Amino acid sequence: FYRLRTRASNTFKPWLFKLHQNWRFIVKITLIKGDGIGPEVSGSTRSIIDAALELHSDLKIDWEVFNIVDGQLSEALFKSLETNKVAIKGPITTPIGFGFKSINVFLRQKYNLYANVRPIKKIIPTRYDESIDLVIFRENTEGLYAGIEHVISEDHIVAEKVTTRSASMKIATAAFEHALKLNASKITVVHKANILKQCDGLFLETVRAVAKKYPTVELVEMIVDNTAMQMVMKPSQFGIIVTTNLYGDILSDLAAGLIGGLGLAPSANIGEDMAIFEPVHGSAPDIAGQNLANPTACILSGVLMLEHLGEMKAAQAITQAITAVLDHADTRTKDLGGTLTTSEFTDAVIKRL
Ligand code: NAD
Repeated sequence: FYRLRTRASNTFKPWLFKLHQNWRFIVKITLIKGDGIGPEVSGSTRSIIDAALELHSDLKIDWEVFNIVDGQLSEALFKSLETNKVAIKGPITTPIGFGFKSINVFLRQKYNLYANVRPIKKIIPTRYDESIDLVIFRENTEGLYAGIEHVISEDHIVAEKVTTRSASMKIATAAFEHALKLNASKITVVHKANILKQCDGLFLETVRAVAKKYPTVELVEMIVDNTAMQMVMKPSQFGIIVTTNLYGDILSDLAAGLIGGLGLAPSANIGEDMAIFEPVHGSAPDIAGQNLANPTACILSGVLMLEHLGEMKAAQAITQAITAVLDHADTRTKDLGGTLTTSEFTDAVIKRL
C-alpha cells in the first residue's frame, strides 16, 4: 500500500485496494466498453494490460465494466468513476445533428477533466522521413464544445464559444509542466486571436502569462490555419502544442493522419483527481463488429494509464511489444495495410510481452 501510494503520488489517495490471497495488490478500475468498435478495442486493451501486469508487476486490476446503451449513463457508473478515479473508455457514438449530447463531452465537463493530452508518435514508416513526436494539450471543458446553442430563428443559429481565464491557465500550466518534465525548450500555442479577438485573445494572453513563469521554455505563437499547413509540411518542428478545444480536436486527427491514421493515436483526459483514458478515434461504425479494428490507439491509451498509476515496467513492456509487432508490415491490421484481425493482433502483442 505504501509503495503504491508513493509511486503514484496523490492520484492514488482515494483508492481502495486490498491484498489478494496470492499476494497481488488489487486495484479497481472502471472500464467503459463503448459502442461500435469500442468493445473490440477495449476488450483487446484489457487482455493486454492483464497479461502485462501478470508478467511485470505485483498489481492486478479488478475491472468494473460498464456498457452504455442509447446515451444512458447509470448512477452505478458515476459511483464507479468517483470511487476508482481512473478509467479506460472505448469510443461512444454521438448522433449527428440531433439527439443526446455527447457522452464524451459530458464526462469531461462533469468531472472537470480539463486536459486532453494527445501524444502523436511515428512508430511505423510513413511518407515522412523526419521523426514525428509531438503532444497536443487540448483544453477539454469549454470553447465551442460548451454545447450552448441558441435558435434565433429557423434560419439563424448562434453557438457560444466559452473561454475562461481559469481553464486556459490550467491547460497552459499542464503543458508547461510537461515541458519541464521532458526538458523541452519550446511550446507552440495555437489560436485564432486575429479574428476571435476576445475569446482566443483571452486564451493567448493567459498562455503568455503562464509562459513567463517558465523562462527556460520558449513560447511560439501560431495561428491555427497556418498550423494545419505547417503540420503537413514539416511536422518535426512541433513538440508540445497547447490549444483550445476545437482546434485541438481537429489538429490531433490531422496529426494522427501523419503517422498512419487514427488507429495509432491515444489520449488521456486528466482532471484534478480523475483521469479517463481513451483512443482519439470514434466508434468507426463502418468496420464495427467485424474484428477489423486496430486496437493500438486504445492499447496505447492503456499504456498512458499504467504510467499514470506508476506501473512503468508493464507500460514499457506493452510499448515494446506493440512496436515489435508493428515493425513487420504483415503483422499489422488492415487500416495499416496488414492482414491481422483485432484478435490476432492482440494475441501477437501478448506473445511479445
Ligand atoms: P471515427 O474515428 O469513428 O472513424 C473515422 C475513420 O477512421 C473511419 O473510416 C474508421 O473506420 C477509421 N478508424 C477509426 N478508428 C479506427 C481503428 N481503431 N481501426 C481502424 N480504423 C479506424 O470517426 P467518425 O466516423 O467521424 O465518428 C463515428 C462516431 O464516433 C460519431 O458518432 C462520433 O461522434 C463518435 N466519436 C466518438 C469519440 C469518442 O468516443 N471519444 C471520438 C470521436 C468520434
